[in-house]
Amino acid sequence: MSDNPRPAVVKARPIWLQTSLVGFALIHVASLVLPFVVGVSVKSVALAVALYVMRMWGITAGYHRYFAHRSYKTSRWFQFVLAWVGASSVQKGPLWWAGLHRMHHRWSDTPRDIHSPKQRGFWYSHVGWITAPDHDGTDLALIPDFAKYAELRWLDRFHWVPFAVLSVLCFAIDGWRGVVWGAGVSTVFGWHGTFFINSLAHVWGSRRYETTDTSRNNPVLALITLGEGWHNNHHHYMNSANQGFFWWEVDVSYYTLRALALVGVVRDLRRPPAHVLREKLVGAAASASARLSGARASAELKLIEARAAVGNAVESAELRLNEARTSLENVATEARTSLGNAATEARAAAGHRIAEARAAVDDAVESAAQAVDPSAPAAK
Ligand SMILES: [Zn+2]
Ligand SMILES: [Zn+2]
Repeated sequence: MSDNPRPAVVKARPIWLQTSLVGFALIHVASLVLPFVVGVSVKSVALAVALYVMRMWGITAGYHRYFAHRSYKTSRWFQFVLAWVGASSVQKGPLWWAGLHRMHHRWSDTPRDIHSPKQRGFWYSHVGWITAPDHDGTDLALIPDFAKYAELRWLDRFHWVPFAVLSVLCFAIDGWRGVVWGAGVSTVFGWHGTFFINSLAHVWGSRRYETTDTSRNNPVLALITLGEGWHNNHHHYMNSANQGFFWWEVDVSYYTLRALALVGVVRDLRRPPAHVLREKLVGAAASASARLSGARASAELKLIEARAAVGNAVESAELRLNEARTSLENVATEARTSLGNAATEARAAAGHRIAEARAAVDDAVESAAQAVDPSAPAAK
């Protein structure tokens, strides 16, 4: 990463000549006025909502969690899919976006942060920075790990192509109404949803972790940005594929990444280690909601640990039970064997004694017969 806080390629053009600002303003005006001209239909609104979700996902799961933070791995072809979907949201190219976002984390809320509401005010952090000439070009030195791919450099240069293709598809689906709602209104909502993370997520919400910046956790922003609203979590541990750290922190992007991992499209999703979840929890001086959030987090951790301990205890009890059962079975087998042997011996001894008794009786009978009649022949 370069030490230069600003991109190496800076195009100092007059503000009214900047394509980003002109396009930005035009799409806003068109999205306000044209829905009244073309009208509305269920189809056009459904198209706008579907494209909002799809492109928000491209920004959060693609531009942000993959390209800026490398929080999971994927194949080269799916990496391009992520870049294409992200680019269709008209937030410039993946290398530009992710490179500058790395700068935000490096210098967050210091004078070198490119979009800090603390440094330059809410509106600059929301829309000012993205249309400013300072940040027009892509500094490939900020993102050499992805700048080495020719197809990504191409897409970064021609970042408007996915949006052009999407606009044509919108026209094919619902004519000009499809273009106005799908490419216009949906795009503007997607912009402000994303920009809220740079502006509102550093102003509105609670803080669980003592980060060096002003980042906040905000469930409303998490819902509209598919999980990016847990921004204080994210600044605490930025390399995680999940930004909702606990089960109650809804993170739709992470759920979809988990689903894609199940079918083998992505892999090696990074999660915060247990000690990171416990580190730097806000202290007693923080707000009540932050304390609640911290307490809830540590309670959840204790629950996880207790569950693991119970699991271990059950396992070792089962082990001991099995051992006892085995030794009991051995004792029973031995007892059965020795009982069998004793019975055999006793039976043999009894037989022997019976035979002796029978012989003695025979002898007695014979001597009695001889005593009665001495002339009688011996029995044997
Ligand atoms: Zn931030
Ligand atoms: Zn980030």
